[in-house]
Amino acid sequence: MKAEVSFFSALSLIFLKPKFDIIINSSMKDNKKDKLKRPDLDEYFLEIAKVVSSRSTCLRRRYGAVIVKDNVIVSTGYNGAPRGSINCIDRGSCKRRDLNIPSGERYELCEAVHAEQNAIINGPPERMKDATIYSRF
Ligand SMILES: [Zn+2]
Repeated sequence: MKAEVSFFSALSLIFLKPKFDIIINSSMKDNKKDKLKRPDLDEYFLEIAKVVSSRSTCLRRRYGAVIVKDNVIVSTGYNGAPRGSINCIDRGSCKRRDLNIPSGERYELCEAVHAEQNAIINGPPERMKDATIYSRF
């Protein structure tokens, strides 16, 4: 009985192995294809801004901003409460979201600072002149 199990296990591996090879090969092909598709700098910085937005502390919306000077990132920021204030995410509520305030109105109800503002605050002032801000949510 034990020998039969081993036999079937070995047989299964023989049949499965080509499948593994196919999966690995197709996965490697996809990676090669991805490496050939190189994003331009705007796409690159916008993707980074998207990742930065994942750190947002507002429950209503997540924004991320990246400040770039001479193709070098000099600062990043996401929307969230100023240091020392309670974040929407920690309080468990956002007044603008709870009251269903339309976009662009009643910003005084939310303590969160815009992603772009936080990026400017966090960056070195001497590197901000003529820089570009990439922003997205
Ligand atoms: Zn909020």
